[in-house]
Amino acid sequence: MIVAIDGPAGSGKSTIARALAERFGFEKLDTGAMYRSVAFTALDRGVDLDDEAAVDDLARTITIRVVPSAEGPHMTVDGRDVSREIRTPLVDANVSKVSAYPGVREAMLEPQRAVAAEHDVVAEGRDIGTVVFPHADVKVFLTADPRERARRRVLQRHEGEAVDLAALEPEVAETLAAIERRDALDASRDVAPLVAASDAVQIDSTAYTIDEVTDQIAALIEEAKRA
Ligand code: C5P
Repeated sequence: MIVAIDGPAGSGKSTIARALAERFGFEKLDTGAMYRSVAFTALDRGVDLDDEAAVDDLARTITIRVVPSAEGPHMTVDGRDVSREIRTPLVDANVSKVSAYPGVREAMLEPQRAVAAEHDVVAEGRDIGTVVFPHADVKVFLTADPRERARRRVLQRHEGEAVDLAALEPEVAETLAAIERRDALDASRDVAPLVAASDAVQIDSTAYTIDEVTDQIAALIEEAKRA
């Protein structure tokens, strides 16, 4: 079974995909982490991000792996753990440039499809239901109001701290600007843009909790299992 969850930055895809994967015993495939790994490695190795051929070449030659561990999966590039490094504002700001290159997308396609050849999978990204798995059993396009997405991202960053949201307003505003910039780039590119598949179930999570959305998608999975 393949469950595809697409949507813009901060719509809750990762958290929900993780919860669904646990509930159903499926593998979780975070395709954004793969594009982030390419962007980070290019920056780290001094590859000019404007040099499309050089970035394509890098994407084709590096080995990106998801290594399971007790505290969750780790991303490695050529054996180096980059799980933390791929989540920085620098990578946030540069990943969309790299992911718009057709050669980079091509290089990521086979490893993504290989996961589903061996396991039931919950895959999340931007083009899962349109390009990677157009025949997915369940397709969801998850959205939320951009301000709410920015707010959730900031709260996630400060998880475990006693936070005063009013004091965090500048960080929310900055995060909102970064999210909107990334969404605009992801939605306007020529290859595999961020767009809902025509047969995707669209869920706007603005007014729902993560658990409520997880339950809605779980019901779709149960329905697909019975079909
Ligand atoms: O999901 P996440 O926010 O980590 O994705 C990071 C970036 O990777 C996105 O902004 C997008 O540029 C790219 N991406 C993509 N296609 C996917 C998943 C992510 O282009 N399927």
